[in-house]
Amino acid sequence: MNIVITGGVGFIGSHTAEYFLKEGHRVIAIDAFAFGYDPAIKEYNAGLLSQYEKFHLYRGDIRNHELLEDIFTTHSIDVVIHLAARAGVRPSLEDPASYADINITGTIQILEAMKKHGCNRLVFASSSSVYGSRTQGPFRETDSVDIPASPYAATKRAGEIICANYHYLYNMQCTCLRFFTVYGPRQRPEMAIHLFADKIRRGEEITMFGDGSSIRDYTYIGDIVQGIAAAVAKPLGYEIVNLGNKNPIRLDKLIEKISNAVGKPPIITRLPDQPGDVPMTFASVEKAQKLLSYNPNTSLDHGLQIFVDWLNEYHPV
Ligand code: NAD
Repeated sequence: MNIVITGGVGFIGSHTAEYFLKEGHRVIAIDAFAFGYDPAIKEYNAGLLSQYEKFHLYRGDIRNHELLEDIFTTHSIDVVIHLAARAGVRPSLEDPASYADINITGTIQILEAMKKHGCNRLVFASSSSVYGSRTQGPFRETDSVDIPASPYAATKRAGEIICANYHYLYNMQCTCLRFFTVYGPRQRPEMAIHLFADKIRRGEEITMFGDGSSIRDYTYIGDIVQGIAAAVAKPLGYEIVNLGNKNPIRLDKLIEKISNAVGKPPIITRLPDQPGDVPMTFASVEKAQKLLSYNPNTSLDHGLQIFVDWLNEYHPV
């Protein structure tokens, strides 16, 4: 298959690309190397992928019409995995218009290019954040998602609805995967597990927002890639599917586990909860199990150890 991966040198994108390249597919990555964090990290990921003969990299923005034309006329694309986005909840409160432009307009540009060039299979990266501020789980795909707690969450929900529209109008096959906090080697440096592990091993202070009781369902990257691969292999019409770990844990327990994996005690400063943060994420993965045979089997302890070993090997203190 010829597979376009937008955001293909980011965290989830680079793992997804690696998986499909190893399976012998052609991967065409589009990435702007911008937004969020140090582009040098994305260069490093691009370097890993460039070892594969069937890897093509287009440096540019998904909103660039000419770039998309070039890609879709040069390659006969079978499926698009659309991961490019401005990610992260807190910064979206500072710059909501940029989030909307990239995550909503950008998604429409991708769908338009697909429509024009007769490519009708999309896997779209949505997020657990669409479930809003809740204290009861597990979260099911049939639950109401009408009150997002951040502009980021609103743009992800909008992306799902736009996919529904392209399915309705043009029979575009769209599977929207709601990822629940993904972690593992190459995780974005500003995400909690990466930030905490790095600071704890350096003996630096970490900031814990809230009283430590907030709950998150952390999902190992290898499990997410299995879910993406299953969604690519099996078009479902239009579906929304959670990809989580179904084993949420409290923030204070997470810090304890990271500190065990690092082998050093944490130094914790407490600050109030941040606007946009939600008290809980907790995936029901029944639908993913049923439709995609999804079976997340990496325990948090094991996944954290893999992450910390990677951090120490590739970014020694
Ligand atoms: P990431 O920031 O590492 O990857 C996104 C990539 O997209 C980056 O390499 C960035 O340069 C690229 N990009 C951003 N805007 C672009 C644009 N306009 N044109 C071209 N490239 C652009 O983030 P990630 O953690 O790998 O997340 C991937 C996707 O999964 C995102 O859509 C994110 O919203 C979603 N998601 C991630 C998580 C998570 O826990 N990591 C959870 C839920 C949803």
